[in-house]
Amino acid sequence: MQLYEKTAYELRELLLKKEISAVELTNSFIERIESVEQDVGSYVTLTKDKALEKAKQVDEKIARGEELPPLAGIPMGLKDNISTLGVRTTCSSKMLENYIPPYDATVVEKLDEAEAVMLGKLNMDEFAMGSSTETSYFGPTKNPWDIRAVPGGSSGGPAAAVAAGEAVFALGSDTGGSIRQPASFCGVVGLKPTYGLVSRYGLLAYASSLDQIGTFTKDVTDCALVLQQIAGYDPKDSTSVSKEVPNYLDVLKKDIKGLRIGVPKELFAAGLSQDVEKAVKEAIAKYEELGATVEEMSMPHAMYALPVYYVIGPAECSSNFARFDGVRYGYRNKDAEDLVSMYIKTRSEGFGAEVKRRIMVGTYVLSSGCYEAYYLKALKVRTLIKQDYERAFENYDLLLTPTTTSIAFKFGEKTDNLISMYLNDVCTVTANLAGVPAISIPCGFSKGLPIGLQLIAKPFAESTLLSAAYAFESCTDYHQKRPQLGGK
Ligand code: GLN
Repeated sequence: MQLYEKTAYELRELLLKKEISAVELTNSFIERIESVEQDVGSYVTLTKDKALEKAKQVDEKIARGEELPPLAGIPMGLKDNISTLGVRTTCSSKMLENYIPPYDATVVEKLDEAEAVMLGKLNMDEFAMGSSTETSYFGPTKNPWDIRAVPGGSSGGPAAAVAAGEAVFALGSDTGGSIRQPASFCGVVGLKPTYGLVSRYGLLAYASSLDQIGTFTKDVTDCALVLQQIAGYDPKDSTSVSKEVPNYLDVLKKDIKGLRIGVPKELFAAGLSQDVEKAVKEAIAKYEELGATVEEMSMPHAMYALPVYYVIGPAECSSNFARFDGVRYGYRNKDAEDLVSMYIKTRSEGFGAEVKRRIMVGTYVLSSGCYEAYYLKALKVRTLIKQDYERAFENYDLLLTPTTTSIAFKFGEKTDNLISMYLNDVCTVTANLAGVPAISIPCGFSKGLPIGLQLIAKPFAESTLLSAAYAFESCTDYHQKRPQLGGK
């Protein structure tokens, strides 16, 4: 097995045993990136020199016999909406093409303390709006399993980089499914934690009440390992929750006998492709074999989640995006004669079509006369969805659904039909609206492309998610498969 195919805990063993050095490891990833990046296109910015510098420091620590933090020397990448001090952070938008943040996001500081090695910043749909990376200003990322297919989005770069062995793990953000859907399309593990568990300080906001930073890893153990490093209260994020963080690695092997799993029938509705349905039903059978009880149940308001999301998301975006005015930072049209035309030209030229569409929809639903009919109504239905979850978790420890209704689609297949693009989030958005944690794990393949299974738990029950995901992973081998990329 090549180094780039290994997990973080396997690589840590090699580092501790001094079978490889951190510099060698980083160099092997740089070589891997150079060989496959022309096909995959996951990175927007590479930070090779910084990475090698950090790896050197880790090697010096090893040489001095110091204790190594858990992610020391492990090469990773960050979605390009996570603020990195001195490293360009673009949100894959022309608006921020040359923006260099003056501060690190809290998760970046935490990974730095854990001595992880950042290889660079990863591609995404512009400002995290999309399901395929096709809205990126820098062009799309390709799915490593089949480069004619999309990697999903908006965190397509992080998902593809982990699948292609261009990073051991990556961080992304999930507002309506942007970690879980690309994880499912690329055959990796993607976790959206509980809202408030991981600090959003330094995450460039799309829709603040839904956005959450989470992880992309090759397996569930790595997921627990990385979550452990980034979780926890942060006074810099007012929505961060002060709560003790459990040891996620300790719970992985917990027996899941007697676990009560509910399967919301609304999310197994029409529109689900046969291959996905078959794989998820097989996964259900596996859970029963493992001693869990699985039952069909109802989430009566789940069918309203998508329209609610596409009102609340744009409303928050239209307000958040007022900051991109050409004055404070980012792109500015330099030919405008006066202030108002400078705003207009800057925003017209700096944002792509999908971002403008959402700003306009958001402005509309918040405008007087429409506010009550749309925004307020959406907030009320959001509460009903949250209550569906509260009721569900009185009877079940976990809910189980497909992550997506189909395997990865081809480029261009949905760009002309926005509704079909938006429908991609039908299984994932409810978790964001309710703030609950959810994970996508590989559960099969169809036509050479991965299929994902979603597990959802009550707030702060990441431990339950992880032990159930680990139990499934332990008796299947989907997470061990790696795409075959030609390379240079
Ligand atoms: N695909 C969804 C959208 O287009 C979700 C995005 C996200 O989670 N950031 O909004």
